[in-house]
Amino acid sequence: MLLPVFTLKLRHKISPRMVAIGRYDGTHPCLAAATQAGKVFIHNPHTRSQHFSASRVFQSPLESDVSLLNINQAVSCLTAGALNPELGYDALLVGTQTNLLAYDVYNNSDLFYREVADGANAIVLGTLGDISSPLAIIGGNCALQGFDHEGNDLFWTVTGDNVHSLALCDFDGDGKKELLVGSEDFDIRVFKEDEILAEMTETEIITSLCPMYGSRFGYALSNGTVGVYDKTARYWRIKSKNHAMSIHAFDLNSDGVCELITGWSNGKVDARSDRTGEVIFKDNFSSAIAGVLEGDYLMDGHTQLICCAVDGEIRGYLPGTAEMRGNLMDTSVEQDLIRELSQKKQNLLLELRNYEENAKAELSSPQSEADGPRGIIPANTKLHTALSVNLGHETQAAHAELCISTSNDTIIRAVLIFAEGIFLGESHVVHPSIHNLSGSIRIPITPPKDVPVDLHLKTFVGYRSSTQFHVFELTRQLPRFSMYALTSPDPAGEPLSYVNFVIAERAQRVVIWLNQNFLLPEDTNIQNAPFQVCFTSLRNGGQLYIKIKLSGEVTCTVTGIDFLWTVDHSVQGKITVNTDDIDLAGDIIQSMASFFAVEDLQVEADFPVYFEELRKVLVKVDEYHSVHQKLSAEMADNSNLIRSLLVRAEDARLMRNMKTMKNRYMELYDLNKDLLNGYRIRCNNHTELLGNLKAVNQAIQRAGRLRVGKPKNQVITACRDAIRSNNINTLFRIMRVGTASS
Ligand code: CA
Ligand code: CA
Repeated sequence: MLLPVFTLKLRHKISPRMVAIGRYDGTHPCLAAATQAGKVFIHNPHTRSQHFSASRVFQSPLESDVSLLNINQAVSCLTAGALNPELGYDALLVGTQTNLLAYDVYNNSDLFYREVADGANAIVLGTLGDISSPLAIIGGNCALQGFDHEGNDLFWTVTGDNVHSLALCDFDGDGKKELLVGSEDFDIRVFKEDEILAEMTETEIITSLCPMYGSRFGYALSNGTVGVYDKTARYWRIKSKNHAMSIHAFDLNSDGVCELITGWSNGKVDARSDRTGEVIFKDNFSSAIAGVLEGDYLMDGHTQLICCAVDGEIRGYLPGTAEMRGNLMDTSVEQDLIRELSQKKQNLLLELRNYEENAKAELSSPQSEADGPRGIIPANTKLHTALSVNLGHETQAAHAELCISTSNDTIIRAVLIFAEGIFLGESHVVHPSIHNLSGSIRIPITPPKDVPVDLHLKTFVGYRSSTQFHVFELTRQLPRFSMYALTSPDPAGEPLSYVNFVIAERAQRVVIWLNQNFLLPEDTNIQNAPFQVCFTSLRNGGQLYIKIKLSGEVTCTVTGIDFLWTVDHSVQGKITVNTDDIDLAGDIIQSMASFFAVEDLQVEADFPVYFEELRKVLVKVDEYHSVHQKLSAEMADNSNLIRSLLVRAEDARLMRNMKTMKNRYMELYDLNKDLLNGYRIRCNNHTELLGNLKAVNQAIQRAGRLRVGKPKNQVITACRDAIRSNNINTLFRIMRVGTASS
């Protein structure tokens, strides 16, 4: 059994996820962690920390080997590492909702202290892509920003939602690192510098990410899921009722491959095989785990896995030795194998008994009129599945629909569906009452987001009086845009907003794309271009037009629906998408671009209503900024006033003029009240400002998502420049035509 090589009990609480190990003097590894009341403590077990004496740092009254760093604000992220490689020692980085501090612990001085408008929820330190100097990259309010050791921001881009986790990993195997970003909209995005390489949609907020090796990385969700991805494919995942507080890759069984180490909210730490998710080691703490790290804390030349609990307990583990042969828990391999085999035996015996009973039922009561058959279903029984759109009626909202039916007189007793992000708890069971049993079943499905989803189905098929059922297992994919119904065009309802772009593709291929991504009625027959199709959103009734002008003859029929089309040979390969939903327009462009393998796509766009809203937001941002400046100036004035009032009150006391002293203190009391009020206003103002800045960042991200490749990056960069120089008209021009120059 693997036991800790050291245990420490620090008398400071550790804030979850805010703990890091650094060699702040270049030699001795020290633990830094955020603790209560806006403080960071640094545990230095190796030397007495006499040189910690100046402004920010002071000695802990509790422990001589702990120094405290005053941040005066809730810490929202923390890390340590070599930000300036020339220094030869690590910097400590501390982020809050308004600032990022890069701190030189050894010299007790700030490397830089930057205001960050979008806050810092997550931080990672390292090299990104071709940017030569290491960066401290923070993720906040829909924005990503990377600073070098001088505080220059060499990297900036926007992302879909608030960032919760960051990691650096060589995702595409070119030897340079990409940035993995986990955010509140359940997406893991992979940035190759500011270009998005891949997007994976998860089922909850991504709270942690960690590189494993190669293109493999670990992830944790806010619903207790942890797992491992290799590139865009998920290797395995498990779900616990506890929350994964921290994950880290570490080779604990010395087989040369890292395990995924997870620290849980119930105090458990477990190590899981990167390939299977199987637990190879676990241990328990008496409080939630705050962080899982590695470092040579004993300074004996071996790296330990270091687990920190929120109550201040720290344990270090050395990897298992060769003698342990990977057997880190006190159960023997043989015992596990016997347990596993006897479980298999149980299952097989149960299956055998079922077959025997079915055969007996068949013999004892051969198809009586009253009961009907109850034994084994015919060997040629087939299960059909069909996906379609149901426009709903008064009592039922429109939805996508899965229809399952059997090919003979058997009935469907129950259907189990596993699908991510559609049902609460990821699974859904349908079991009609005994009086409503039939050979077909319709299941409404309403995916909340436009992403393709695999539906894993288990269908129980038998007879009305069966007690044993045959289970059909199959998987159907719900197309990405299954919540849009093909409808007759209604020119009056055609959205004013649009995107225009040119793709050199045959109409046939566009039709294949339509067929793969929408639930078109079976008798839809679209041939050659130009044509236009009109869809209605099942969520809000909004219209979506996709118009394609390509050369060629036109045959275009859909039973029951007339298409409007015009022949236009002058423009070839021009596609127009009309929708007032800018996210949907972006999704369609991204979907087409990946289907047609388009690397760069420039797009002309207009979203009059959305842009008008954005214009209002930008005006508000300006207002909040000026209120912020005014309030800050007032606060500085009041601070000066306090100083002078204190001095005057003290003077009065020395002169034994109690009446004046009392008056001064009354004034001081009133001023203090004003200051507190001012602070409250500042807080509200800041919250409003953050909300509006988020809307601006999201607008830039959306404008980017309407383009692909280089044009996309150009739009994002140009939008930011326009905002920095406060050039609103240029900003809207970029969002419309994709470039600032006319
Ligand atoms: Ca790479
Ligand atoms: Ca290993």
